[in-house]
Amino acid sequence: MIAGGGRKNLKLEHIPMDGSMVSNENIEILKKRIDELESLLKVDQVLSSILEPMEIYSAMAELVQEKLEIRHLTIFEYQQHTEQFGLVYSNDLDESTFAFKANDGRLWQQILKNEPFPVNGDTDAPLYSEFHENEMLRKLNSDFWIPLITRDRIMGLLTVGEKVDGQPYDYVDLGYIKHIADFSSICLETCNINAQRQTEKKELDKILQNLSLLYNIGKAMTYISDLKNLLKYILGQAIEVTKAEKGSIMLYDPAIGQLSVSIIEGLEDEEYQEKINNKQIACKSFKPGEGVAGSVFQKAEPIILNETKGDDQFVEAESSFAHSIACIPMVVYNEVIGVINVTNKRKGVHFTEVDVEMLKAISDQAAVAISKAQFREMAVTDFLTGLYIRRYFMVKLQDELIRAERYNKVLSVAMADIDRFKSINDKYGHATGDEVLKAASHFLRENLRQADIIARYGGEEFVIFFPETDKKSASILAERLRDGFSKIKLDNLPQLSISIGVASYPDDGNDIQSLIHNADAAMYTAKQEGRNRVVMF
Ligand code: GH3
Ligand code: MG
Ligand code: MG
Repeated sequence: MIAGGGRKNLKLEHIPMDGSMVSNENIEILKKRIDELESLLKVDQVLSSILEPMEIYSAMAELVQEKLEIRHLTIFEYQQHTEQFGLVYSNDLDESTFAFKANDGRLWQQILKNEPFPVNGDTDAPLYSEFHENEMLRKLNSDFWIPLITRDRIMGLLTVGEKVDGQPYDYVDLGYIKHIADFSSICLETCNINAQRQTEKKELDKILQNLSLLYNIGKAMTYISDLKNLLKYILGQAIEVTKAEKGSIMLYDPAIGQLSVSIIEGLEDEEYQEKINNKQIACKSFKPGEGVAGSVFQKAEPIILNETKGDDQFVEAESSFAHSIACIPMVVYNEVIGVINVTNKRKGVHFTEVDVEMLKAISDQAAVAISKAQFREMAVTDFLTGLYIRRYFMVKLQDELIRAERYNKVLSVAMADIDRFKSINDKYGHATGDEVLKAASHFLRENLRQADIIARYGGEEFVIFFPETDKKSASILAERLRDGFSKIKLDNLPQLSISIGVASYPDDGNDIQSLIHNADAAMYTAKQEGRNRVVMF
């Protein structure tokens, strides 16, 4: 008899396995045994291919039912964190939220033994008090409970009630169910491990993704040499990585002791944004300690503010366009060179520490790349006008000439000299002369195309090359410059004008020297002919 008995008496079947008695009856028994082994093999095959707990529960029930038609079959899952058995499958109950606590008591002790056990005694005396006190447990109509345990870990519980044929459960029935229970437990454990691996893999994937992103950003930074494009790239990545709406990079200008916006991205008014980025409009600058950007700069610590309204750290200029902000310092050799701001996380969610970590990783690399670009730019630009120096221009022109020769292209060179500049110095002083020179340089730079290169050739003399531009096109461009120049408005100063001479490759020379010489000669002619004009060599 099975320990504890049952509601119905269990009929035990003994199957001799030593082959000693080969009778018809024994052959029948052997056939039955083979049949059982086949069933068990099927159980293993079916269950081992499933990776979803819910699918395992259904498969378990189906496998049991295939062999033993059972009126009442339920499966409980043991939830470790709540120490409860929760109903996950039932063939006749519709109480999917049913759960019972079973972390002590006789029932629990019995489950731990990891053997099928009957839950209804022969007598009226309740075998397990918990069971009889719980109306839902009685509703299960179960005769036997089969623990789902693997490696001492309780995974769940299978309960079976009366069979359709009314026959009592025998050892073979219970052995079969026990096998399904055992194998299912292993499969459930595999599911758990698998789910855990999936989570771990997702986390690792995310880290890997971030690392490769940072690697690519770092690599890209080393390729971009000019400061403006570098800043644009860094800001674009910072905005993308944090899924922000907009952002800006502010660099510290030691000359004025303030942080000023060097690049801004994501403004609705693109024209306005372009003007800021071209330095035609100046944004508010921040003193160290002022506003979020100033604080980040001063303390060299990132700040996240997800509710900017009413925050003391926020100054008007910041809060007018941002409801949330993450601001990160850019540090090189312990010196803060500026900050990266990202504002308004998309979809209204908040910036998190993860965003800050990503930004930090970007800003560390960005700071080095920006510093290098600044040094490079400093080395090739003229301090007063911000234009390229002559030597840099010559190198660029040489490159362009080689290209023009190889690909059969044209190019043009222009020399430009401000008319009667000496008189401005004489009348208004050298300092004013400097300011005029700055304004004139700014005008020339802004009125050239992106690919054109301009340098300060000498005092108030400029040299320009127009890549892939023939003499006729160059004359139009030069004329436009001259015309615009003659309309520059400077407070309390006389109207400026400029004289320009143009020479083109290949018509007017094959090398830098002859091209510049001839453009200069044309410019000289322009001076002689009365100034404020363009002369083609
Ligand atoms: P034009 O070219 O029309 O013949 O007359 P100009 O008066 O411009 O004559 P020139 O080109 O010979 O004189 C250039 C003057 O520019 C001489 C110099 O004092 C002045 N200059 C050169 N570099 C600077 C500078 O960096 N700052 C200032 N303020 N003046 C400069
Ligand atoms: Mg001059
Ligand atoms: Mg001159």
